[in-house]
Amino acid sequence: GNPITRLPTWLKTPIPTGANFTRIKSDLRGLGLHTVCEEARCPNISTCWGGTDKSSATATIMLMGDTCTRGCRFCSVKTSRTPAPLDPHEPEHTAEALRRWGLGYVVLTSVDRDDLPDGGAAHFAETITKIKQRAGHILVEALTGDFMGDLDCVRRVAESGLDVYAHNVETVEGLTPYVRDRRATFRQSLKVLEAAKAAREGLITKTSIMLGLGEKQEEVLDTLRELRKINVDVVTFGQYMRPTKRHMKVAEYITPETFDMWRVKALDMGFLYVASGPLVRSSYKAGEAFIENVLK
Ligand code: SF4
Ligand code: SF4
Repeated sequence: GNPITRLPTWLKTPIPTGANFTRIKSDLRGLGLHTVCEEARCPNISTCWGGTDKSSATATIMLMGDTCTRGCRFCSVKTSRTPAPLDPHEPEHTAEALRRWGLGYVVLTSVDRDDLPDGGAAHFAETITKIKQRAGHILVEALTGDFMGDLDCVRRVAESGLDVYAHNVETVEGLTPYVRDRRATFRQSLKVLEAAKAAREGLITKTSIMLGLGEKQEEVLDTLRELRKINVDVVTFGQYMRPTKRHMKVAEYITPETFDMWRVKALDMGFLYVASGPLVRSSYKAGEAFIENVLK
């Protein structure tokens, strides 16, 4: 049968519509940006792009191509050991397109480029610097990989002028070897977040955890404790959704009540803000959250 009919009701979402969404979508045409929002058919697109006003509208842009050098078991991105070379004009074009688009908050992310000597850190940093030069009002979040633990790369990005440094631990330590590419480790990810936090006074750090992979609640708690120890500011929780049959199975559909419980728990532990819900993705309404919790 249709697998969709077996989803819990809270995971069924309407097709994105709304005047604001349609307008932004038509603005986007011709700018040549690759948004994760569209390409992953993210269910939050009207909420994020629509925002309550344009200054908090959020989108996620993919840099450095569509082919990753890693293969995580939850991720549907294409894999190759030799992805296409970087487009040297991408930083410039991205900055110009974002200036014309007029968003309030952009998340820049990328595939992992273990084939490049610096993992693409300089390219990432250049893109951020150019965005800030051309459209200084846009708040920028970078969601990076772990640069194979090369903390100079992390610092390069963290010092480029961005507002939020995000790197996802994705899951609890015990499940990491089964969920993420074998080159990724939980401890290495903590080091990335720690180095980003130390790179610049006041920089906000952020991470995301997928639930429903078989983790125990005690393990989630331990993860939150580890993250607080290194002063991670923001955490998000979302339901793992299996992209295709070749990917890991969903172990459990976590209820909305349990997501609420994690939000309250994480706030109690001192996180600055928390997004938690079945459909939450790491960039969910990130602009609105930043404006309400950091700028005010
Ligand atoms: Fe785009 Fe992220 Fe919002 Fe989804 S959650 S629409 S990917 S910004
Ligand atoms: Fe997907 Fe990122 Fe893993 Fe690459 S490193 S396979 S883009 S989750």
